Amino acid sequence: MTFSTVNRDDLKAFIEWFGGNNVLTGDTIDEEYAHDELKTVHRRPDALLKATDEAAIRRLLAYANERGIPVTVRGSGTGLVGACVPVEGGVVLDMTPMNKILDLDKDNLTLDVEPGVLLLDIAEHVEKEGLFYAPDPGEKTATIGGNIATNAGGMRAVKYGVTRDWVLGLRVVLADGTAMDLGGKVVKNSSGYSLKDLIVGSEGTLAVIVKATLKLIPAPAKAISLLMPFSSREAALVAAPKLIAHTTLPTAVEFMEQDMWKYSESFLGKNIPHDEHAAYLLATYDATTEGAVDEIVECASAFAVDKLDAHDVYLIDTDDRKQSVWNARGAFLEAVKASTTEIDECDVVLPRSQLPGYLSFIQDLSESTDLRIPYFGHVGDGNLHIYLCRDDLDEATWKEKTAIAFDAMYEEAAKCQGLVSGEHGIGYAKKTYLRRHSDARQLELMEAVKTAFDPKGILNPKKIL
Ligand SMILES: Cc1cc2nc3c(=O)[nH]c(=O)nc-3n(C[C@H](O)[C@H](O)[C@H](O)COP(=O)(O)OP(=O)(O)OC[C@H]3O[C@@H](n4cnc5c(N)ncnc54)[C@H](O)[C@@H]3O)c2cc1C
Repeated sequence: MTFSTVNRDDLKAFIEWFGGNNVLTGDTIDEEYAHDELKTVHRRPDALLKATDEAAIRRLLAYANERGIPVTVRGSGTGLVGACVPVEGGVVLDMTPMNKILDLDKDNLTLDVEPGVLLLDIAEHVEKEGLFYAPDPGEKTATIGGNIATNAGGMRAVKYGVTRDWVLGLRVVLADGTAMDLGGKVVKNSSGYSLKDLIVGSEGTLAVIVKATLKLIPAPAKAISLLMPFSSREAALVAAPKLIAHTTLPTAVEFMEQDMWKYSESFLGKNIPHDEHAAYLLATYDATTEGAVDEIVECASAFAVDKLDAHDVYLIDTDDRKQSVWNARGAFLEAVKASTTEIDECDVVLPRSQLPGYLSFIQDLSESTDLRIPYFGHVGDGNLHIYLCRDDLDEATWKEKTAIAFDAMYEEAAKCQGLVSGEHGIGYAKKTYLRRHSDARQLELMEAVKTAFDPKGILNPKKIL
């Protein structure tokens, strides 16, 4: 497909609809709009438009569709697979200025938001009202539009599910500029194919999300985390599914080995308590009364020590301990990045029972490729974050080794009945692996969906497929 580049007449039209201050070109566009958080994919847009309102977006899309100008939607740019990078040039549409919280409906327990609202602002807004939006992806400065477009996961997925489970309705603008509402303030919906669920996780390739209706529930009274040390990786990974199957039902079960704490400690300049063990599970429990949480925590602790061979169970209950452990956990990605010259990442998701074997394979791969490959995991949902570190490799060797390592990692994940991405999406960086490890008929159906929504392919071209 050949696309048009943005010309003077296009810019005039954009300025009329978005206002002069919201249309940027050339060097006035900050370099950050040429990449996402991981910086493995680069391309500057011809024009950057700051989203103002739905009407302007409708006019833009109708026009871009007619002219064949690519439009790449962008939230906060915290993605890790190049999904918000305009690889075919054209327009980047920055949604962060559309950041109003529109309506909190206490009768229907819903929250209407514009797509540029940050995850951290949603949490703060609903918590003041004693309510809870459960999805908890690690990067709190991501937009809700970006979270929906990537079907973001996060720590609490074990008990509460992922972003898709909390999106009741969407208002979207299609590639031809038509706007429509999908789903709504309804808790159930069996009304034909769920177009809303197709948009969730579509990474800006099917439509632009201009409003979302989110599900809320009453907030738990409190949440307590338990840090459980184990003598080995294997022991922690064997314990994890048993902990999840136990009646105490954790909200989150994170897995890490000692090296990840050390990366974080050196990055943050602070030690976490009890960092001397080989491997850990970090499990969180919540409930609707404080007494119930205390009871659950006591029961889970006894189970971990008596039945799962945890060395001990450390209560992460004071503000100080919570901050130190969760800040260190939240810094893993940044800490690994800071430990080397460049990283690339793999976000496979596997049946939980396959994790011990898969991570042994990763260790062997690290040795055979002579690459440093740290990892940690949302082990509660079988999702691993595995990083390849460049260290002092020259460009050619780095490219060669990452290709060998990724080929092997995705191949092995497929053998373990795993999938290419658990939560970061496919974007541009993981397309090869989606194609390689998907059934041909499935890919045809995905291509047909893309064509049905966006026949001229202007929305975020060259992504996912
Ligand atoms: C430290 C760190 C921790 C992270 N932890 C997690 C985690 O726990 N779980 C997880 O899932 N991810 C995680 N991520 C990845 C990232 O934060 C998520 O993918 C997030 O959902 C991206 O949101 P964003 O606003 O930054 O979107 P961007 O990166 O700007 O865009 C991501 C995709 O969404 C599309 N998009 C954005 N807004 C819209 C819209 N309004 N309409 C249509 N499409 C749109 C873009 O086109 C692009 O395809 C983490 C990232 C970092 C840096």
